[in-house]
Amino acid sequence: MRDKKDRTSKDDIFEKDYDKIRQIQPKPRENSDQKIQRTEPSSRRSLSKNRQKKGAFFLKTAAVPLLAIAIGAAAGLGCGYYLWGYERPYSINLKEVSIPSWIEQDFIRKNLFSRPDVTLKRVDNIVIHYVANAGSSAAANRSYFNNLADQDPQQPGTVGGSHFIVGLEGEILQIIPISEITYAAAPRNFDTISIEVCHPDETGKFSQKTYDSLVRLTAWLCNELKLSSKDLIRHHDVSGKNCPKYYVENEDAWKEFKKDVKSAMKK
Ligand SMILES: [Zn+2]
Repeated sequence: MRDKKDRTSKDDIFEKDYDKIRQIQPKPRENSDQKIQRTEPSSRRSLSKNRQKKGAFFLKTAAVPLLAIAIGAAAGLGCGYYLWGYERPYSINLKEVSIPSWIEQDFIRKNLFSRPDVTLKRVDNIVIHYVANAGSSAAANRSYFNNLADQDPQQPGTVGGSHFIVGLEGEILQIIPISEITYAAAPRNFDTISIEVCHPDETGKFSQKTYDSLVRLTAWLCNELKLSSKDLIRHHDVSGKNCPKYYVENEDAWKEFKKDVKSAMKK
């Protein structure tokens, strides 16, 4: 709250200040500007005109290279955008990739839950999984995915799948064509190939036979699909899931796997 006295003194100060402000207020500027213009010597005027001309000349000559640089940069960015994936045209026809005899093809039934019969248009990564069922065979895992077809399509059910399953003895089953999507690595099912890998125990580490087959299969896929070992990812890298367990918990083992695939690609 303010009392009367306070208000009076403050108002007084304001009045005094306002008077000061009025006293030091400059004269209207128009007059002074006019004076300067009138007193400006003709030589100075021509000099400033000359400067304007030079400025225009600079703008004209600089505009060409600047424009060229801008176009170059835009083209470079566009090129980078094009090359580094976003609009990269995919030239491999996945239906025409011929599968070698060491891969056993045994496709599961087309169904809503594990083989939706949707075209896979491109492959940007290969995703490695572990089956998370210690000691189970490739055939048993194939049956599991095949039997998902028996669920009631009117009810929400279990979905799953994989293109390949590598078994405990090193056998390789292909259960879905690589030209179709599989439900294994959401939200990247539309541009990835998935490999499920069997393992003897709860650690999730692959046996040597299984590991060797996985390296062979992955190297072959990379060569066929024009991918590099850098394009190998874990299910974990897609969704954060602890899959493939041993190779999520042991980063060095994962790096070693990618190195092994890289050297197998050269053979
Ligand atoms: Zn997985």
